[in-house]
Amino acid sequence: MYSKDEIINILSSNDDSILKTADEIRKQYVGEDVHLRGLIEFSNYCNRTCYYCGLRYENKNIQRYRLTPEDIIATAKYAKNIGLKTIVLQAGEDVCFSNNILCNIIEQIKKLDVALTLSIGEKTYDEYKSFKDAGVDRYLLRIETTDKTLYNALHPNMSFENRIECLYNLKSLGFETGTGSLVGLPNQTIESLANDILFFKTLDADMIGIGPFIPHPCTPLGDSDVDLKKNFDLSIKVMAITRILLKNINIPATTAMETLNPNGQIIALQSGANVIMPNITNDECKKKYTIYPNKQNQDIILAKEKIYSIGRAISVNKGFRSK
Ligand code: SAH
Repeated sequence: MYSKDEIINILSSNDDSILKTADEIRKQYVGEDVHLRGLIEFSNYCNRTCYYCGLRYENKNIQRYRLTPEDIIATAKYAKNIGLKTIVLQAGEDVCFSNNILCNIIEQIKKLDVALTLSIGEKTYDEYKSFKDAGVDRYLLRIETTDKTLYNALHPNMSFENRIECLYNLKSLGFETGTGSLVGLPNQTIESLANDILFFKTLDADMIGIGPFIPHPCTPLGDSDVDLKKNFDLSIKVMAITRILLKNINIPATTAMETLNPNGQIIALQSGANVIMPNITNDECKKKYTIYPNKQNQDIILAKEKIYSIGRAISVNKGFRSK
């Protein structure tokens, strides 16, 4: 177990031997299999105004779309047919999907005998419970940053305390709970990244998704002066330390990593990651799910080729957190 100071030292130094250590821990605790999760981005409507995200309500420069429940279920069936074992439903915080509509979709998808993950933001305890009762297995809700001042500056009309409460509610309801943070936000310190990692450990998160921050031109952070290479390298390190501390959890090689480095996914898979989330949303819609520019949507065939090219295998099970 690293202390906060040790984590800060690792993140601040040029030494990246930590990546190799993370790769060894990954191999020892979760093996060589890579889990594929079929991602369906079912709506880019959002009533939030997060400063970094292109889906924010105030961005009028985006064509909004929302899949019908039939489209969502058909896409899930396609995923099942091509052998995917987990479906991830992600969207902005779109009020048009009522709890009833969502629970119906969930029940239909669960009939396919797949694991199901939701990533649709902050909901009440009772709403989360209804998803759990309908059959959802996992939930992804990134804390984004544990620096409360920074969190509040980036999330108007939201509350840091509520975000934390949502994560503990998800845990207590028995979801496999995923969180994670953005790396390289303006005004984010190395110390706060160390706190993020320690928070993942305290929560005992089952999944952690780490992404480098990529400025989106139609957001308030659009002209932030960020060093994208630095954000990429730092995000890989944050991910590696997370693997070393949490050992047996699931960690994706994220799309944002792939967006900043043509070899990003492979580097991630060799620095602690064991999951890839290919995007199976139809082409027209996935182009519009622009949380940041040039998003490199992961193609399933290419993902498989990459996994084989580094001598890894594709998991044949649902890929719950290994005990
Ligand atoms: N509404 C859902 C899903 C949000 S999109 C929710 O609140 O959980 C998924 C993730 O994209 C976010 O959690 C955020 O970490 C990431 N993201 C958004 N804008 C980004 C940007 N500009 N650069 C990198 N990642 C970004």
